[in-house]
Amino acid sequence: MTTAIEVQGLNKYFGSYHALRNIDFHVESGERVVICGPSGSGKSTLIRCLNQLERHDAGEIRVSGILLGDNVRNLDAIRREAGMVFQHFNLFPHLTVLENCALPQILSRKTPRPEAENCARQYLDRVRILDQAEKFPGQLSGGQQQRVAIARALCMEPRIMLFDEPTSALDPEMIHEVLDTMVELAEGGMTMLVVTHEMGFARQVADRVVYMEAGEIVEIAPPDRFFDAPADERSQRFLSKLV
Ligand code: ADP
Ligand code: MG
Repeated sequence: MTTAIEVQGLNKYFGSYHALRNIDFHVESGERVVICGPSGSGKSTLIRCLNQLERHDAGEIRVSGILLGDNVRNLDAIRREAGMVFQHFNLFPHLTVLENCALPQILSRKTPRPEAENCARQYLDRVRILDQAEKFPGQLSGGQQQRVAIARALCMEPRIMLFDEPTSALDPEMIHEVLDTMVELAEGGMTMLVVTHEMGFARQVADRVVYMEAGEIVEIAPPDRFFDAPADERSQRFLSKLV
């Protein structure tokens, strides 16, 4: 197994605020890792540093062995390796669902349009939303839009998928359809790093759970151990508030 994501000694500041403190962790190829922790603990900042949506100040980040730094070619390569899905879908409102999925391939990979549209249809089918292909995002429910966002990311054929709270902007009745899509992706062997508060998903899918607080990794453990016998009192406190 190769290491999909490797982070060593990662530190990140926003001005004088120390947002990430000496973060060390890794995700193996084919592994599913869930990051949880209270709001403001640095989960989004961490995941956004992995493809340089935020620049880190110190430490080393490698994605599929590629070092993330000032080398633009490396950054492009890393962004191809790792697809990302955000809390707020980030679809283009003026483009159809099909076009949202096809256009990134055409623009960044120079894929010929018919091939890009075929690929888009294939992944829209995979997230069970092909029947909505000609609609605009605003005509879809939140859960449907998020599945389109997942299909769009998959169209770029990433080896790793990063999710930042993909269900936390959704109405409760739509959460399960997005989680089901993510479970299927996991069952297909995708390497996944998922920030989520959905502890049922973490229990079902995660190989390991990373618990963060105040910019630090407090604990990394397999889900059974994390949920049933968390080692750190900060994790215990977090989990006791969930029930
Ligand atoms: P989480 O995703 O765990 O809720 P974030 O990574 O979004 O936490 O934020 C971690 C901390 O960094 C918070 O205190 C937040 O206010 C701060 N922060 C995040 N982004 C910025 C930014 N662009 N500028 C200044 N502070 C930020
Ligand atoms: Mg966040």
